[in-house]
Amino acid sequence: MTTQLNQLRFDNRLVRELPADPETKNYRRQVTGAVYSRVNPTPVKQPRLVAGASEVAALLDLPASVFSQAEFAQVFGGNQVLDGMEPHACCYGGHQFGNWAGQLGDGRAINLGEVRNQQGEYWTLQLKGAGPTPYSRTADGLAVLRSSVREFLCSEAMFHLGVPTTRALSLITTGEWVRRDMFYDGNPQLEPGAVVCRVAPNFTRFGNFEIFSARGEIDVLKQLADFTIRKDFAHLLDHKSSDITAEIYLRWFNEICLTTAQLMAHWMRVGFVHGVMNTDNMSILGLTIDYGPYGWLEGYDPDWTPNTTDAQGRRYRYGTQPRVALWNLAQLANALYPLINAVEPLQQALERYRIEYEHCAQRDMANKLGLSQFDPVQDQSLTENLLQVLQSAEIDMTIFYRQLAHLSLDDIHQYTDQQWVDIVRSAYYSAPDIKAEAMMANWMRSYAQRLQQDFVLNGNDNIQRRERMNAVNPKYVLRNYLAQQAIDKAAGGDNSEVEKLLQILRKPYAEQPEHEAYFAKRPEWARHKAGCSMLSCSS
Ligand code: AMP
Ligand code: MG
Repeated sequence: MTTQLNQLRFDNRLVRELPADPETKNYRRQVTGAVYSRVNPTPVKQPRLVAGASEVAALLDLPASVFSQAEFAQVFGGNQVLDGMEPHACCYGGHQFGNWAGQLGDGRAINLGEVRNQQGEYWTLQLKGAGPTPYSRTADGLAVLRSSVREFLCSEAMFHLGVPTTRALSLITTGEWVRRDMFYDGNPQLEPGAVVCRVAPNFTRFGNFEIFSARGEIDVLKQLADFTIRKDFAHLLDHKSSDITAEIYLRWFNEICLTTAQLMAHWMRVGFVHGVMNTDNMSILGLTIDYGPYGWLEGYDPDWTPNTTDAQGRRYRYGTQPRVALWNLAQLANALYPLINAVEPLQQALERYRIEYEHCAQRDMANKLGLSQFDPVQDQSLTENLLQVLQSAEIDMTIFYRQLAHLSLDDIHQYTDQQWVDIVRSAYYSAPDIKAEAMMANWMRSYAQRLQQDFVLNGNDNIQRRERMNAVNPKYVLRNYLAQQAIDKAAGGDNSEVEKLLQILRKPYAEQPEHEAYFAKRPEWARHKAGCSMLSCSS
């Protein structure tokens, strides 16, 4: 066969170096003493490409033309295993909604292998929705078009926003029908099946370490930790061959705390709510992983969660994400404790998380407001007041910050309340009353004063300020209703909206005047429509 896919070079280090489950039959079971089980994707009727991300193909040294080869859909839909691939599913556990859930594992994800590209980078390819594995428990191992469009588009949207994330190479429909009870109301429907090929340096989660620790399989825990450090944290080693000591495990845990803090600051900056921050959905690399019932803040509201399954406790609402990540890190600290045997330095690392998060959040807030730097004396209250104002009415977060950049200090003398509000009026979901206008106008006046001072003291100006703001405040985000419109079209066989969204979201900070319609508040019809605001975990 002479196809471009044969150019992929596999070097499957995880499979080669870590303990395998000796059982190779594919049935659901508890797997002990092993990091992974070998399992092949389940063949499907008619794999068809819906969309591909050429930037991700390039990471694998593949040209964009690879997507149009017939073989591509066969391989990435699960019908064909290429030479060099060694399909497998990994064992992990996790704390779900605060409780230890025992063995979970790759229930519908199958790693195909690790590609080593020409730069020497390793990229693991993973099919999501390619059929059952030993870890599928009571579920079918499949994914539907609805959730797969969401995963594909959001992975790439996050990357282009500068938010660490797993990537998505392709989205393929399988030609099969999959039964899903989307509303959990006893009315399952048949939906089109789909498979996304995800790409990341690794897909290891906090839960991969937790499971071995919980079972007292400390030798396997150590093997996985050592492997992960040597492969993806080699910069922490003094020498390539050096033994991995407690001190190195600690350096590693410190780094996980820092990258996780940075990730949380990114989510908060762009208004992303993951929706299911269980420890099995936390990447050891600090990547956003597992796009399920996520959402983007529209009206600014720290209590908002897109996940209907979480609507009661709201554990994973927007405003609590940084705290939940810390809780999850504490679970990881417990899991790694047998390798370190000291509590104090683990606690110090968790403390570093707090400091790093605070640092990133303040820096981001200064940038969001276009200030040269965050001055804790003045800007703490400026920020707190802003967040109060944003909550006092339904105000679209994305539109608000983007519009705020239009304020010009040259124009504002003798502005009335109304004129101040006009700057951001398009962000309001319903017209503000006089009181709400006064609140916003007051905040704007204090903001303008602060800017004036920044201009005088630091030589900042309107142009620099706008540039700074527009580089961190996206204009285009994957609002749930936009994703839903692309899903509805794709379900009818028209993939153009998926393609178009991918294209727009490649440049989320650019003006793109031709796509102004995508820089708009969620329309009223979408407020309560399924998939457009709240989502269930069903996927
Ligand atoms: P999630 O809450 O989606 O992160 O999933 C938690 C666990 O359930 C993981 O072990 C998943 O692999 C598994 N899982 C979710 N959906 C399915 C499915 N349709 N089939 C098999 N396993 C699944
Ligand atoms: Mg998951």
